[in-house]
Amino acid sequence: KRQETVFPPVLTEQEATLISSIDNVTIDEWSFYYTHGLHVAGTNESQAQWTADRWAENGFDSRLVEYYTFLNYPVAQSLSFSANGSTREVNLEEAVLEQDETTGWPDRVPTFHGYSFTGTAEAEYVYVGVGQQVDFERLVALGVELEGKIALARYGGPFRGLKVKNSQSHGMIGCVIFTDTGDDGNVTEANGFAAYPYGPARNPTTVQRGSVQFLSTYPGDPTTPGYPSKPDSPRTGIEAVTPQIPSLPLSWVEAQPLIQALDGYGTSGEGVNRTNWVGAFNASYSTGPAPGVTLSLSNEMEENTTTIWDAIGIINGTSQDEVIVIGNHRDAWIIGGAADPNSGSAVMIEMSKAFGKLLATGWQPKRTIVLCSWDAEEYGLLGSTEFVEEYIPWLSTAAVSYLNIDVGTSGPNPDISATPDLHEIAIATMKKVVYDNYRGFNNMTLYDVWYGLGGEVGVLGSGSDYTAFVHNGISSIDMGSGGGPADADADPSEVDAIYPYHSNYDSYHWMATFGDVGFNTHKVMCRYLTLLAYELATREILPLNAENYGVEMTSYLTELEGTIEEGGSNYTNLDLSPLRSAIETFNSSAAALVELVASTSPSDTQTVNTINAKLRDYQRGFVSQGGLPNREFYRNVVFAPGLDTGYAPVTFGGITEAITFYHNATMAQEWVERTSSAIELAAAILIP
Ligand code: GLU
Ligand code: CA
Ligand code: ZN
Ligand code: ZN
Repeated sequence: KRQETVFPPVLTEQEATLISSIDNVTIDEWSFYYTHGLHVAGTNESQAQWTADRWAENGFDSRLVEYYTFLNYPVAQSLSFSANGSTREVNLEEAVLEQDETTGWPDRVPTFHGYSFTGTAEAEYVYVGVGQQVDFERLVALGVELEGKIALARYGGPFRGLKVKNSQSHGMIGCVIFTDTGDDGNVTEANGFAAYPYGPARNPTTVQRGSVQFLSTYPGDPTTPGYPSKPDSPRTGIEAVTPQIPSLPLSWVEAQPLIQALDGYGTSGEGVNRTNWVGAFNASYSTGPAPGVTLSLSNEMEENTTTIWDAIGIINGTSQDEVIVIGNHRDAWIIGGAADPNSGSAVMIEMSKAFGKLLATGWQPKRTIVLCSWDAEEYGLLGSTEFVEEYIPWLSTAAVSYLNIDVGTSGPNPDISATPDLHEIAIATMKKVVYDNYRGFNNMTLYDVWYGLGGEVGVLGSGSDYTAFVHNGISSIDMGSGGGPADADADPSEVDAIYPYHSNYDSYHWMATFGDVGFNTHKVMCRYLTLLAYELATREILPLNAENYGVEMTSYLTELEGTIEEGGSNYTNLDLSPLRSAIETFNSSAAALVELVASTSPSDTQTVNTINAKLRDYQRGFVSQGGLPNREFYRNVVFAPGLDTGYAPVTFGGITEAITFYHNATMAQEWVERTSSAIELAAAILIP
């Protein structure tokens, strides 16, 4: 339902002070700084220090926290293609553009995959679609030979590391992952849109770098599962969580002829009949292999156990056992990283400046505010995970909420995902934010824009730094904004540019020219993050809605019933009554707390403290010791990244994936019990 909004929004004096300090001109400066220096993980101490220095200038007590982590860096990558007896090199480089200065910098980063395996592979290749398990199952059913071949996979769908994992587990010896213009909707050169730097379509040479760690096993440094990476930490092998076959990413312009060369061999794309299989190339997307049509790939990486730097900035609250943590990663695959992650980084600096204004008036928040600038997110959420692993005793005692901003802006459309307790305050705060000049429209709040786009708060899966927090039972929100899909008849000048994710073109020039002209959306996101942090840090009683957890869990239960039905006769005896009853217990705890809140005077400090402690702590109950099946470090029984998707969430993961992934009714029943006990525990912590 659409909620009432007031325009212009009514703000308290302190909120107005915060908002008036937020300026797109300074955000532009911070963006310029971050996007003009190499900041691949483990190479960016100066940017970490710069971040801490800006926060310190604004009144935050700031420092760097170091971890000593396993990373690998590109040394030499090559790919050649042979057909009809002739061989040619495939171009792995992104074009240098004179309009976009940093694309030509001498220390620009080659195209490669983080945590990829050093090795060579030469073989015929098979197109595997987006490389999800179901795609491989289909290829096996069609009798396509996979063993000893190279996989050619399309980006999109599951996390890229899972594409490599699935290729490897089917006996394939290498994996090339390409960008397909089919992901760009209508905004392609084939549709008459000019490509970057001249227009909104994707530059044909754009390559998506990115980590290929297996993600679904555990986040963080692959050599230190569950404990912080210190110089003297014991180290485990990484074979189970990183690929053992080489891989490379590829641009669409280089991939198209490779896909075309399979035309007429194996089963055509139409015959494969899988969603997301056929892209937008002029080709049949046949599986192959084609006799004598081969790839030869070589990937040489240098392994390094090396320092990474998290910048941390703190304002102490009057009540120090209640902490609001706000984080954004700082490392990028490239020189730029204007959207990912430095739109968020620029917002964080500007936000610190706004809080600095308030501090200068003598203000002190009720709750401690901790700013975090994470390193090495890109390789697998290292900076945030190692920090959580080190400071978990403190965080699990004191952390109220974690607010994440990664790609703060790659287009004008806001997007948020959060644990259910944060929905209400996240939505209410949007109503306090003016979104001036949204696609030329004015007099709108962020809420109006968000509601107009569908008005839904998403569920957290994985893919950014909230993961370690969620899996330690800390309430979390992830926020950002992106481009919208274009209508077939849209005016080219009004179409959102295709976001050049993990490519050299995610640069300051792209951002200033296409992504966010005038840094307007950056400013809006900064207003939002700042006011949300302020609300959480200052309200006498925490504005966290526990009842909504019950509401959402009830809808996850309905979804689960659907999953069970789809699972078929194997699951007809599955007894969900413990789960139903646990959710009911939870609902009555939440209702009792709401009653207590209603009858408590803000001056009754003792009761206020008790209520706040409950609102802070009950989600720790959702954490199941020992973790979800076969993944010790994903421990939240309500939310998890999908085993087969990596990014996309599953709810009641233990039960759901016992059915959809393990096809195991006994395991499903066991996880009904475990999930229910966890919810009962949360309910017991919550009840007044
Ligand atoms: N956000 C990064 C990506 O999507 C890292 C995700 C991860 O490795 O967990 O590539
Ligand atoms: Ca670790
Ligand atoms: Zn990011
Ligand atoms: Zn990224």
